[in-house]
Amino acid sequence: MIVQMSKVSTKKDLDNIVSYLTNLGYGIKDASSDNVVLFGVLGDVNLLDIEQVKSFNGVLNVTRISSPYKLASKSLKHEPTIITLKNGVKIGGDDFVMMAGPCSVESEEQLDTIAKALSESGVRVLRGGVFKPRTSPYSFQGLGVEGLKLMRKIADKYNMAIITELMGVDEIDEFVKYADIIQVGARNMQNFTLLKEIGKTKLPVMLKRGFSNTIEEWLMSAEYIMAGGNESVILCERGIRTFEKYTRNTLDISAVLAVKELSHLPIIIDPSHAAGRWELIEKLSLASYAVGADGLIVEVHHEPEKAFSDGRQSLKPEKYDHMANELRKLSTVLGRDIKWKKFLLSVLV
Ligand code: PEP
Ligand code: MN
Repeated sequence: MIVQMSKVSTKKDLDNIVSYLTNLGYGIKDASSDNVVLFGVLGDVNLLDIEQVKSFNGVLNVTRISSPYKLASKSLKHEPTIITLKNGVKIGGDDFVMMAGPCSVESEEQLDTIAKALSESGVRVLRGGVFKPRTSPYSFQGLGVEGLKLMRKIADKYNMAIITELMGVDEIDEFVKYADIIQVGARNMQNFTLLKEIGKTKLPVMLKRGFSNTIEEWLMSAEYIMAGGNESVILCERGIRTFEKYTRNTLDISAVLAVKELSHLPIIIDPSHAAGRWELIEKLSLASYAVGADGLIVEVHHEPEKAFSDGRQSLKPEKYDHMANELRKLSTVLGRDIKWKKFLLSVLV
């Protein structure tokens, strides 16, 4: 529910209505802008008597938010959310962010080789899994906390931020020490215990869409994190499961447009897990840029044939560099139409 105060309302009017609602157990989210005093009422507002709220002095307008998510909705916040990482990289708004790195962190030598090449291609956010959600318990499970420390060391060497997947609440304390962005994997998108705990941290979170989840369910999961107090959420479309078997998953490119219509949160695309084959990554990335995504997260490995996981969909560093150049070219072509979206690399080279 959104409550708008009239221009002639006083501070006392606002305090009265806010304390009435908080006494009933509702949360309040200020959404005022320069000329308008506006706030959202959080909680089960179906039980609230709307006429009673309207009758308070100074209340101009009361409207129900039709979507089940509130904090993630555009009705409460129209301007795009922009998340700034410690190394200065911005996600959302005008910028297009490029995150890249191996599926799994395997060794110092492997990570250093890949990070060095990527930093030369302008990448400033290094991805890598250290706790791996593998379908088989016999597959490589990741290096754990040691891998996290290794990522920090290598990323610092190249002034990169790191994004890595958190699988369980037990590791949160270590993640807060070393990571810049917590990744919530597709399989954990509806792990509500995990989402609630992440909501208590201050770290930016990238929430991947579950492979069988609707856009509304995805935004509800974002709402879980935001309701805990952490509003730095980045959405990531990584392909959904359909009847089609040609690709590993089906990249739902229209999810970008849907999210842009419904939410102020940034949305990036993971073409690697969507396609499952490296040959398709460059073109899907160009399509992601063209449709208005806020960035990409791409798997890169210098020896894909030897990768511990997802080698088939990993680009070699030189192929990544080629793709980055193609994106740069596209950004100059599309510049006039989507001028609000600067291609990050173009300002670095
Ligand atoms: C990953 O990014 O390494 C990963 C496991 O992705 P997803 O959760 O999308 O399958
Ligand atoms: Mn992977």
